[in-house]
Amino acid sequence: MLILLRGFENILTFVKIVRDPAEIPLDGPRPRALVPTMGFLHEGHIELIRRAVAGSAETVVSIFVNPLQFGAGEDYDTYPRDLERDAALAEEAGADWIFHPDPERMYPPGYATSVRVAGPLTERWEGERRPGHFDGVATVVTKLFGLVRPDRAYFGEKDYQQLQVVRRFTEDLNLGVEIVPVPTIREPDGLARSSRNVYLTPELRPRANVLYRALRAVREAAAGGASPEQARVMGEKVLAEVPEFEPEYLAVVHPETLEPLQEWVPGARGIVAGRFPAVRLIDNMEVWIP
Ligand code: AMP
Repeated sequence: MLILLRGFENILTFVKIVRDPAEIPLDGPRPRALVPTMGFLHEGHIELIRRAVAGSAETVVSIFVNPLQFGAGEDYDTYPRDLERDAALAEEAGADWIFHPDPERMYPPGYATSVRVAGPLTERWEGERRPGHFDGVATVVTKLFGLVRPDRAYFGEKDYQQLQVVRRFTEDLNLGVEIVPVPTIREPDGLARSSRNVYLTPELRPRANVLYRALRAVREAAAGGASPEQARVMGEKVLAEVPEFEPEYLAVVHPETLEPLQEWVPGARGIVAGRFPAVRLIDNMEVWIP
């Protein structure tokens, strides 16, 4: 176990960092909340931690850049990391301790097991573009649940398909963890907060809210009486205004199955993904509120 000590905004912070899975304390106060992250914390993560702290007796933040959920050619090696800063921010938000294992401890020699959610939920959208990604997520989250034994776990709606995948395997495998969704935290111009936003150049940054603006256009068209397809086309027009952005998909989907909608259903979700040079961004929004 490591105790990290540093000054942060003139407050001296101490936070316990558990690196060895064998040292995870299981006898703490209950209910215990887990906030799984890959670190480089921002306001989105902090909101998850604050909500966990408000609703639980003990809050554990995991910081683990999970190699299994990165594909070949993705940014595993360059993914931003800053444990000291993360520790101070998590502590300030009220986390009780941090779990920060080494990849070799999570996947030791001989490791051979994977959790896979099958069917339309993982075949489309992110699952189609990032083969193996959701297997990696499902596997690491299942392991984190087994190690930390939380009563509940907090996940951002920012990664909406991931949230549905986590709900699915948690129920299917009877893991006994309550999954708590948290709305997306955004920059003032609408850009969803993300650790990967640091890859945006100063020239691109002002245009990066195009995903948000497209989703707003879908929602406004829906409110004005458009069909899901008509609303989707309105969103595509907004995406086309920013030539540096290469859209991968913009769809109007069912909030649980993520299947494209012909007719509106309550909670219908707009989902969007695409690339600026050097950074891939995703976003989503509830677009039909009856
Ligand atoms: P990550 O570190 O990117 O794996 O994210 C860890 C958790 O934080 C996931 O449940 C994300 O959905 C959530 N999260 C990331 N960005 C945001 C955001 N802008 N608003 C709310 N939750 C977020």
